[in-house]
Amino acid sequence: MTDLEIVSKCNALAKLFYAGRGYAVEDGYRFDLAHHPQEQEAWDMACMAFELLLEVDPNDAVSNLDDDETEKEVVARCEGCGRNIRADEDYDYDPEDDISLCEQCQ
Ligand SMILES: [Zn+2]
Repeated sequence: MTDLEIVSKCNALAKLFYAGRGYAVEDGYRFDLAHHPQEQEAWDMACMAFELLLEVDPNDAVSNLDDDETEKEVVARCEGCGRNIRADEDYDYDPEDDISLCEQCQ
């Protein structure tokens, strides 16, 4: 598997773990870039599965990816307007209320 495939499959696995807890995200969502604690947890679980079964660390694959490939990925959903926030945008995350707000909604 290429680094991109590892990251993509690990995200797909994280999406399944996350769905198992009753949360849905869109296809292609990047858990490795997420700020949300439960999403980060889903990513970590998927990483553990990768390390156990395939002896690869998806976090290594993430750091090997070009910045260009990761920059435009979705990292959060704005609580105010509901749109997806991309990795190259400024946004505000409030860990106390577990709320992300895009630049316009802050
Ligand atoms: Zn917004």
